[in-house]
Amino acid sequence: MQFDLNRITRKNIQLLKPYSSARDEFSGEAKVFLDANENSLGSPLTKWYNRYPDPHHVQLRNKIAAIKGIAPEHIFLGNGSDECIDLLFRCFSEPGKSNTIICPPTYGMYQVSANINDVAIQEAPLLPDYQLNLAHIEQLVNADTRIIWICSPNNPTGNQISLDDIETVLNNFSGLVVVDEAYINFARRRSLIFLLTDYPNLVILQTLSKAWGLAGLRIGMAFASMAIVEIMNKVKPPYNISEPAQELAIKALDEVGQVNDMISELVEMRKGMAAEFRLMPWVEAVYPSEANFILVKMNQARQMYEFLLEKGIVVRDRSQVALCENCLRITIGTEQENTILVDAMYTWFEQ
Ligand SMILES: *Cc1c(COP(=O)(O)O)cnc(C)c1O
Repeated sequence: MQFDLNRITRKNIQLLKPYSSARDEFSGEAKVFLDANENSLGSPLTKWYNRYPDPHHVQLRNKIAAIKGIAPEHIFLGNGSDECIDLLFRCFSEPGKSNTIICPPTYGMYQVSANINDVAIQEAPLLPDYQLNLAHIEQLVNADTRIIWICSPNNPTGNQISLDDIETVLNNFSGLVVVDEAYINFARRRSLIFLLTDYPNLVILQTLSKAWGLAGLRIGMAFASMAIVEIMNKVKPPYNISEPAQELAIKALDEVGQVNDMISELVEMRKGMAAEFRLMPWVEAVYPSEANFILVKMNQARQMYEFLLEKGIVVRDRSQVALCENCLRITIGTEQENTILVDAMYTWFEQ
């Protein structure tokens, strides 16, 4: 079956007449703005922020477009990728009817968002090498399957998913394939944005929360066809990204060089930390990572997790997650934080 965006777009969303904000109805130059019930007197802040932000994020999208080499019409901006994930379900899945396919172990929000939107979850667990199980995915797809989620580099395993496999899914599935590239800046293979011209059913998610160091701003990006972006824009809350977040992101995006330096430093430390972990006699496996964290399998992972907590060090306990048994997911920190962690781990061993 051919991909048909109309087929998978919820009827009420197709028919939706979007909210028209004051900023939509008048967007030209004017001296006096008395159309949005803002407070013209100002606010307690030095910089006022008394006006509503640009609902279309024009400046920010143009900036991202220039960096990513893609037209701004192909970019949707959300309040974090988490909002993009939720919107994709809301636009393209019928509550109580549609189903979605996830490939665990993977990012937890796909499941939570599906649950919130009453979309049934079908699981095609990754293979032992953490690649897609294509046969299982094919077996699960039915007429009500709307979205397949692929996270690459995958959280919490850290590996990239084979490009051939992703293209196989794109070619054989007539719903949306969402590739979550939250960690793409730390990976060897570049973004799949270049595939958008070939696949109208591809949606790529990225975020400013990881490599860009701006988790507190809440800015997520979806790259897709103009038609998909248009539908998501229709459904999003009009002012989903605050004025300070837009301003600060625009400023930060001028500093690509600085961010690239941080990425190099983190990738270098990732190499060092992987080597450190491999030396530890109680470590059973250090999984190759293309992200800013490492999945480490060890004896008594849960006990190690609790021991570290007592020392004030928090890592992510994935030891109860299928295919991640006895694993901790450890983020690469500063040089100093990494040393504190490694020293603490040896203290546990020696006690
Ligand atoms: C961290 C992360 C995100 C980021 O979500 P934001 O809402 O943009 O902060 C998205 N996907 C994955 C797989 C992640 O690990």
